[in-house]
Amino acid sequence: MSAPSLSTNPHVVAVIGGATAGAEVAARLAGKGVRVVVFEMNPRPFGKIEDGLPRWHEGLRNKEYATITGKLSLPGVDFVPNTKLGRDIPFEELARDWGFSAVVLANGAWRDRGLPIEGADAYVGKGLIYQNPFIIYFNHLEEDIEPAETFEFLDDAIVVGGGLASIDVAKVLMMETTRAKLRERGIEANVLELEVKGIPKILAQHGLVFEDLGLKGCTIFYRRRVEDMPLAEIPEGADEKRAAKVRASRAKLLDKAQGKFFFKMEPLSAPDELIVEDDRVVGMRFRRTEIEGGRVKMTDETYERRGSCVISSIGSIPEAIPGIEMKGELFAFTDWDIGRIDAYPNLFSVGNVVTGKGNIVASRKHAAAVYDAALESYLGLSEDGHQAEAILSDGMSEAVSVTANAILAALGEADTPSKDVFASILDKVQARQKEVGYGGDLAAWLEQVKPKERA
Ligand SMILES: Cc1cc2nc3c(=O)[nH]c(=O)nc-3n(C[C@H](O)[C@H](O)[C@H](O)COP(=O)(O)OP(=O)(O)OC[C@H]3O[C@@H](n4cnc5c(N)ncnc54)[C@H](O)[C@@H]3O)c2cc1C
Repeated sequence: MSAPSLSTNPHVVAVIGGATAGAEVAARLAGKGVRVVVFEMNPRPFGKIEDGLPRWHEGLRNKEYATITGKLSLPGVDFVPNTKLGRDIPFEELARDWGFSAVVLANGAWRDRGLPIEGADAYVGKGLIYQNPFIIYFNHLEEDIEPAETFEFLDDAIVVGGGLASIDVAKVLMMETTRAKLRERGIEANVLELEVKGIPKILAQHGLVFEDLGLKGCTIFYRRRVEDMPLAEIPEGADEKRAAKVRASRAKLLDKAQGKFFFKMEPLSAPDELIVEDDRVVGMRFRRTEIEGGRVKMTDETYERRGSCVISSIGSIPEAIPGIEMKGELFAFTDWDIGRIDAYPNLFSVGNVVTGKGNIVASRKHAAAVYDAALESYLGLSEDGHQAEAILSDGMSEAVSVTANAILAALGEADTPSKDVFASILDKVQARQKEVGYGGDLAAWLEQVKPKERA
């Protein structure tokens, strides 16, 4: 039997992924009286806040957890945990047969971009590690759970990357190898304190310097120059003077991080070949690069570096969902602003899955902009028909750069589900919630699935 509808609007929308972007769009729809069903593959709806953003960002993490929980607790939002589209429910069936007015993909980017060396993936688990599972392992290290994958924090690792996430990987390695060395001396160091104060200050409290530990430290290998590392963004339309300032600040940021964590950096180096001995990765051959007119140019020069392991941190891409066409490593969006795909006229996409930006604010803003500029009109929720045009033209939605007219012309109008279809969707939702043991109260569920700290 269906629960009485909390909605004041006949539409019902499916949101795939319940984290930053998914919760934002769900809250906006629920605020207009639309019934929203949020399908989330994990028990908790915190996405990359829990499994990406390193756990030393405790304050930010807790703030984002509270924001997401608040949005998904709104009347009219049905949460369906432990339900992966494409695994537990076929995407095509949900999008075409269930009868939803619209489907919103908010599933982020959960796959590592492959290391660009042929056959490299045969060595995953044999010295080659990808960033996403490595950070997930680190983030859950102090919880009393059986990890899906385990990793060792090895000294002298090769980190391939150059973005913020690769610096996080290097910081994890440096902090954990330092902690292990301190533990040998009977000293227990706390990750949060280490991150805030930096390794030298913590060592000094014990009369030690980094050299006393006997660690080599890890090295980040980057294809471009230090000043090209995307650690600070050059604003669109910036003149050369402003751009040069940002480049200089990137070098300063890196210098500060190296001073606190002792990792090394090797710029102008592109991965060329894994060095394998006894079926295990023991190093990498790199090709020297040059930057010409802002582009990376390969040279004839190569060099080899041995290391304890290779950690690849060169970007995250969406996981394929059977039933949704891919173009290369991305979904085959026909509209990159609001994430539309021709095969599913009622589909929109929000957050990292479209923006490709690993940034909380960018994901939230994009979700808000897609709602304001497209979904609201599609579902006929806007009081003022010209609202979308205004939103787009007043610059509120930088992330969505299409013109309102183009969107509105492309959208058409959503079909309103009949009462029977509405009821049958809610029946299916409740059946799935029952199957996964979710009783309908998000706060109680989050308490039930809250990870316990390791004793
Ligand atoms: C190492 C690292 C460090 C970072 N540091 C920062 C930082 O300092 N500051 C910052 O702003 N950002 C940072 N980020 C990025 C930030 O965490 C993300 O960009 C942001 O949280 C993405 O939000 P989202 O909602 O778009 O996607 P996600 O958080 O990825 O949410 C997608 C949701 O969809 C679910 N899902 C996926 N597939 C399916 C499916 N098939 N069916 C059902 N559910 C599914 C997932 O479980 C998840 O809950 C970092 C990321 C990483 C990896």
